[in-house]
Amino acid sequence: MSLLSIQNLDVRHGLLQAVRGVSFDIARGEVLALVGANGAGKTTLLRSIAGAHFPSSGRVLLGDEDLAHVPSHKRIAKGIALVPEGRRLFSQMTVEENLLLGRSCGRKGEWSIDRVLDAFPNLKPRRHAKTGHLSGGEQQATAIGRALMSNPDILLLDEVSLGLSPLVVDRVYAQLQELLTSGTTIVLVEQDLARAMSVASRVICMLEGRVVLDRAAAAVTRDEVTKAYFGLH
Ligand code: ATP
Repeated sequence: MSLLSIQNLDVRHGLLQAVRGVSFDIARGEVLALVGANGAGKTTLLRSIAGAHFPSSGRVLLGDEDLAHVPSHKRIAKGIALVPEGRRLFSQMTVEENLLLGRSCGRKGEWSIDRVLDAFPNLKPRRHAKTGHLSGGEQQATAIGRALMSNPDILLLDEVSLGLSPLVVDRVYAQLQELLTSGTTIVLVEQDLARAMSVASRVICMLEGRVVLDRAAAAVTRDEVTKAYFGLH
């Protein structure tokens, strides 16, 4: 039984069609890596799942309900949370205040400020610091924590590695490891193919707005994904 079903999704930016007839189901507990070259449509697809961008046609089914034109704050209340590209924190607000914002549209559940600080211990001493003063890794942890505070069923992560040094990326992924193996359903957009394949249970590759590969991570080689990435057969 799938948790979320994306059906024939078309998404446009004005005249440009960024997502073309995309369909796939996400089962509860899957960690789905969305890969593809720059401009393949990954961010647009993720934002359409989150409600930050509406599709021109197609469906985003959560159970029986089509959320395709439901705004993002209502999707958060239904258990879909996005960690956006570039983090989009409120830089004049503290870590704690940003985390509390995550709870405002969300659902009641097991995530609290203390649990986020336990999951991301580097944030503990920064709890009352303005996020504009944090390092990139601390900002990314805050952005992930903010999404978790809404107690999502599905966590959408858009390029958590972007702009971070390899060492910091390692640390962010180490902190994500518990989430990745705890049964949380996750869709992650990741530029680093090797990393994406090492954490995902399933890999979807997009090329020019379409899905060109959709396989269990254990059943596909890096070479096959690389070929799909570049449109080679
Ligand atoms: P990247 O890795 O560069 O973020 P992506 O796979 O996430 O790439 P998208 O950001 O979804 O791809 O972009 C898909 C296409 O839509 C690209 O051609 C891009 O230029 C275009 N696009 C994205 N956002 C907008 C926008 N706000 N207005 C116009 N065109 C856009």
